[in-house]
Amino acid sequence: MNIVSLRVCLFTLIALCLMLVAGCQQPPAEVHLSGPTMGTTYNIKYWSENTTDSTLLQQRIDDELVHINKLMSTYDPASELSMLNQTKSTEPYPLSSETLVVVEEALRIGKLSNQYLDITVGPLVNLWGFGPQARPEVIPSDVDIDAARARVGIDKLSVSGNSLSRAHPDMYVDLSTVAKGYGVDQVAEIVASFGIDNYLVEIGGEMRVAGVKRNGQAWRIAIEKPVSLERAIQEIITVGNNAIATSGDYRNYYEEDGMRYSHLIDPKTGKPIQHNLVSVTVVHPSCLTADGYSTAIAVMGKDAGLAMALENDLAVLLITRENGEFKEYTTPGFDSFMSKKG
Ligand code: ADP
Ligand code: MG
Repeated sequence: MNIVSLRVCLFTLIALCLMLVAGCQQPPAEVHLSGPTMGTTYNIKYWSENTTDSTLLQQRIDDELVHINKLMSTYDPASELSMLNQTKSTEPYPLSSETLVVVEEALRIGKLSNQYLDITVGPLVNLWGFGPQARPEVIPSDVDIDAARARVGIDKLSVSGNSLSRAHPDMYVDLSTVAKGYGVDQVAEIVASFGIDNYLVEIGGEMRVAGVKRNGQAWRIAIEKPVSLERAIQEIITVGNNAIATSGDYRNYYEEDGMRYSHLIDPKTGKPIQHNLVSVTVVHPSCLTADGYSTAIAVMGKDAGLAMALENDLAVLLITRENGEFKEYTTPGFDSFMSKKG
């Protein structure tokens, strides 16, 4: 080996060492994945010390979300849930284990919330113009409301083995109110299964986070001000390894003759809710559970909702509109997430 080639060798060695050192010191980049699902979008941020195949990860996530839609979408007439709804019968109807998990959690929260969360409320939602059929020409009559109520009620549903039975042959089961939360949980499990400990998974505003951001700080979650016309921040919270779901009455409503009609229906009256609770945020390890509770409490209203949250040790932030001002109510479980405010 002559002097020149020895020098080349040395240079190459030094250059290689420098590249290695630089490679080691460079913190792994944060990866963003996003795409359409459930009539909205999903967004994922993650970083990991381990090398991960983000293309494969996204493929697995997309496959799972397509699978969930094939089971639980009411927009897909061929989904498992749509097939159930098209089968007018009181016979036990076998469902996939995934759909049953979601149905059973929605029924559990439905019972806990004194049946305010009601996955059979669809006929009333349609009657008031929030379903696939557009806004009604006239406010529904009491006769129409009573007719719809005859086939509404979670007390008319029962699960036995892997089957769901309906006490009325013409019921409509809609899991849209908790499906996003379930989707977030499933996506988070897939991300974690790739050895990723630091992530934020979001579908249409429902989220689950784990670990920390790449700079070592906690994931900071902004809770929107409950106003329809702009996007502004009401609170910023950090939730550790948890899911967070918000149910709000400020984006989905219509006004007619000076009355405001919410998209949330009180199953007891068959009419849109009328109270002053405008936003409910729930933090819970399961996004499915957080999603269900947030809608349940939003339907219940401040007093009943807060009482249920306290009874069940839930972490909840409620925002009411009182005399034109927003007022916050929190449970002790939620306060700990707000302490790092600022
Ligand atoms: P939010 O973000 O306000 O929770 P969701 O999409 O999760 O919104 O749930 C609202 C939808 O749930 C409504 O558009 C309606 O279809 C349905 N819904 C209305 N009232 C109830 C109720 N009492 N229980 C369950 N679902 C309801
Ligand atoms: Mg919801």
